[in-house]
Amino acid sequence: MSDIFDQYEPVIGLEIHAQLLTQTKAFCGCKAAMSDFPNTHVCPICLGHPGALPVMNKQHVNMAILMGLATHCSIRTRSAFSRKNYFYPDLSKGYQITQFEDPICYAGSVEIEQEDGSVKHIGITRIHIEEDAGKSLHDIDIDTLVDYNRAGMPLIEIVSEPDMHSASEAYKYMVSMRQILRYLGICDGNLEEGSLRCDANISVRKKGIKAFGIRTEIKNLNSFRNVEKAIKFEIVRHIELLESGGTVKQVTMQWDASTQSTKELRSKEQAHDYRYFPEPDLGYILVTQDMLHDATMLLPELPLAMKQRLSHDYGIPYYDAGILTEDKSLANFFEKTCLQLSVKDKERYKLVCNWILTEILKILSDKKISINEAITISSKGIAEIVDLFADEKISSKIAKEVFSHIVQTGESPLQYVESKNLQQISDEHIIAEFVNSALNGEAENIEKYRAGKSNLMGYFISKVMKISNGKANPRMVNDLLNQQLM
Ligand code: ADP
Ligand code: MG
Ligand code: ZN
Repeated sequence: MSDIFDQYEPVIGLEIHAQLLTQTKAFCGCKAAMSDFPNTHVCPICLGHPGALPVMNKQHVNMAILMGLATHCSIRTRSAFSRKNYFYPDLSKGYQITQFEDPICYAGSVEIEQEDGSVKHIGITRIHIEEDAGKSLHDIDIDTLVDYNRAGMPLIEIVSEPDMHSASEAYKYMVSMRQILRYLGICDGNLEEGSLRCDANISVRKKGIKAFGIRTEIKNLNSFRNVEKAIKFEIVRHIELLESGGTVKQVTMQWDASTQSTKELRSKEQAHDYRYFPEPDLGYILVTQDMLHDATMLLPELPLAMKQRLSHDYGIPYYDAGILTEDKSLANFFEKTCLQLSVKDKERYKLVCNWILTEILKILSDKKISINEAITISSKGIAEIVDLFADEKISSKIAKEVFSHIVQTGESPLQYVESKNLQQISDEHIIAEFVNSALNGEAENIEKYRAGKSNLMGYFISKVMKISNGKANPRMVNDLLNQQLM
């Protein structure tokens, strides 16, 4: 069976809807806060009352431009809105305001990293501005209810070229899109809550053949795992269908998580005829040189560039840099911590990185919070712990104790170590005294040790440590004992 699958090449293109973090909705002054109590952010415009006129939202336009620039798109200086007509109870106006022939951004690309470390460019066909529909709530005992808080929420739709050839490429594309949107601060990227939605178009063709096969489209994939699973499932379904002599019908599918399979939602014959026409109530979107300039100035360092820079400048493993930069606030936390170290070298940077990737990430995922919400964990505190350890003022065991204490109290590690007198003793004279008193009365054991019973060293070390209440610098204890017992 497996060789049959090897004869085909999957072709995948994704359409991503991102809900933008503007203050107000796309075409009215209602607060863009769709998770508030239902129908509390509505007005004649977003409810579609006759005669109510939409107004363009500058922030919406600027955010779309920002995403266009971040994905190397060309930006149209003049583009229009269109009406996409269809009936659905949650679409109060009976049409959606969107862009059709002339999207504001077009012909861009994003980079995804392959397993072998090479970078692949995925083409972006277009990014256009549009509004969301309301939300029907079917799972209610009483009846179907509609929440219009979401009606008129600002979206961008990002349409990729059919450049992806496996479920894992599609997954990576989706992940980097979300990462870019979040770095730009224009979308929270929450798939579960629907602020990021993905439709996947899939076809297969025999390897070596240029023409695309007939595609199906899977609607509304609401988690990364489902994106990957649904695409995998659909690829296998297409190939098996073709191999058994059938043909793929161009239909819209739905991922059913309960059966872990796709099922047909509607066929092309039943597909909507949207009767697009120009939106008469809005003017053109005009993008000026000033707007482009401002957006360019706002463009932050993007995830892949930051990953490469952190790994290069701080000498941390590329893989680790990837985890740090998954979330911009975590990457910023790393850099801020490094800046506060008393000695700036790669050894300490690596220690900072390790603290974040192990202890800190564990706490964040346990509490399901971001680093910015972890108020007791400060970059200064982590820098202090790393310095204390690297300066041999505390052992790694004490460092962990200090960390778990400050996580609970938010105290400064330096102060805590001082107040609890946890400092490691590294004064040579004091350690020499510990060693002397430990060896006092041990003439017999010393003789045995010198005669070759080398495992007595452990006994001597633990005796010194006990005398020092566990605070003697173990490396120095070891050195001094070796000298004395030579
Ligand atoms: P529609 O408007 O019907 O959704 P589009 O032409 O806008 O169609 O294409 C939507 C998505 O489908 C794009 O991401 C595109 O890359 C992808 N696509 C188009 N043809 C194919 C194909 N044969 N196989 C896989 N994906 C495709
Ligand atoms: Mg489509
Ligand atoms: Zn409104």
